[in-house]
Amino acid sequence: MSAARIANIVAIDGPAGAGKSTVARALARRLGFTMVDTGAIYRTVALAARRAGIEWDDDEGLRRVLEPSLGISFIAPPEDAPAEAQRVLLKGQDVTEAIRTPEISRGASVVSARPIVRAALLELQRQLGREAKKGAVLEGRDIGTVVFPDAPVKLFLTASDEARAARRFQELSQKGLAVTEAEVLADQRKRDASDRGRDIAPLKAADDALLVDTTGLDLDQVIDRCVDLAKSRLQA
Ligand code: C5P
Repeated sequence: MSAARIANIVAIDGPAGAGKSTVARALARRLGFTMVDTGAIYRTVALAARRAGIEWDDDEGLRRVLEPSLGISFIAPPEDAPAEAQRVLLKGQDVTEAIRTPEISRGASVVSARPIVRAALLELQRQLGREAKKGAVLEGRDIGTVVFPDAPVKLFLTASDEARAARRFQELSQKGLAVTEAEVLADQRKRDASDRGRDIAPLKAADDALLVDTTGLDLDQVIDRCVDLAKSRLQA
């Protein structure tokens, strides 16, 4: 990877519910960068497998889902509503909502631990980052450690288990999904343990990432701090 290609990359990692998407979206908007939600890509693999009747730990089946290509594409939010989430398409069909269910969250966690999936998605993520017109904000679990280890800006967002589960619960309830906060917390703990404990590209902060604990913080304050930091690092 040439230095020029990673000059405009902001890597945001951290566990579920730490505020990564909100911060990444706001940063991308303020910097004029493209946002890449890499969790959405793992979720789409889980959904594609489920729809094809393939188990999430069936490597041969997953290979068929991934080759010759997963068929994922994104539609950026409209210019007059940049805070909206981007739409995610699977072979042309809008799956933006379908990939956000608790079941697919679990599936994403399972498929993301399979080396065959990580290998196939690594190049796709790098390509999305490199192709971005002005620059890209990528959010995920291993962006600063594996996907763009030379990114000039690396943030690792975290928050207490309870604060993160409360945010996710609110999001899911607003979408009308019938879940309890205790279920969200239990699911989240399972996912965190699997993301942190897997052999390949486990969730962890890069040595040179800035750690931001968002527990009890207003995300607007976090965003201001992250924008200042990103601008100064990108200028340097
Ligand atoms: O961020 P989000 O909750 O949408 O991610 C869904 C799942 O995808 C995570 O629990 C994790 O297992 C996986 N993931 C990953 N590496 C990334 C992004 C997401 O393993 N870079």
